[in-house]
Amino acid sequence: MTKLANAQDTFQVLQKYHFSIQKKYGQNFLIDTRVLDKIMEAAQITEDDFVIEIGPGLGTMTQRLCECAREVVAIEIDAALIPVLSDTLSSYNNVTIIHADVLKTDLKQLIDERNGGNPAKIVANLPYYITTPIIMNLFESHIPIDSVTVMVQKEVAERMQVGPGTKDYGALSLAVQYYARPQIVANVPPNCFVPRPKVGSAVVNLKVFDSPPVRVQDEEHMFRLIRASFNQRRKTLVNGLNNFRELPHTKEEVAKVLSDMGLAETIRGETLTLEQFAELSNRLLTLN
Ligand code: SAM
Repeated sequence: MTKLANAQDTFQVLQKYHFSIQKKYGQNFLIDTRVLDKIMEAAQITEDDFVIEIGPGLGTMTQRLCECAREVVAIEIDAALIPVLSDTLSSYNNVTIIHADVLKTDLKQLIDERNGGNPAKIVANLPYYITTPIIMNLFESHIPIDSVTVMVQKEVAERMQVGPGTKDYGALSLAVQYYARPQIVANVPPNCFVPRPKVGSAVVNLKVFDSPPVRVQDEEHMFRLIRASFNQRRKTLVNGLNNFRELPHTKEEVAKVLSDMGLAETIRGETLTLEQFAELSNRLLTLN
């Protein structure tokens, strides 16, 4: 069995299987051992852990996960990679390869069955074309997760970390920070992958909170408010919310609540903190 994570062995495996890289699946295979070390260090996998890897590719990171974890489940969408993975992971008996789209996989059921419903650790070098849906799906489905350690596009990692008053601040920042504590642990240049992506990458560790940092009466309502605010960044919050069909609040109601919160009627959503969005949502709901 070939140990991957370097360019030479990766090319050998690609050749052996006459594998043609699928851009549509966001395939950029990791070929740098030091980056792998950093991901493993951030994920802090122990022999008690149940790990789900999204998009194992050729099995590069999966090999390392199998060496550290109790059990690994690797979910890969590309059928052509399944025989490759059976080969590169043949010497591990603690791994299950699932051929599926992670967005259509019932992760809750998987964790219930394989880990008795106890929190799993998620580790992935994510396909960049669906990074946000994957992260949002993990959090919004409220499945038991301890942490999410992922390679993403550098800009996306930065968006997860920033607060109000920066251009990168948006719905993703607020959603991630509601569920987890994000920390960028490494910046990764394009030459660490085959093929090289056009953008820089970063590894981010999201340590999931036991309970959210703010009290919200209705999460869905707060996230609708957040989406409405960032959909129309240039508009004032009062106008932005008024134009958003999914929300029933009138301009007058929003203006009143803002004033009760000591905020100006002309304020834009992009300047509000998570705490303020939570308060706005709770107050609007008690009006109706
Ligand atoms: N983990 C490997 C590595 O680090 O070398 C591959 C990473 S590559 C950036 C992303 C992987 O995710 C590819 O293997 C791709 O086929 C897979 N993938 C893409 N979309 C997926 C989906 N919806 N569900 C599961 N896997 C997916």
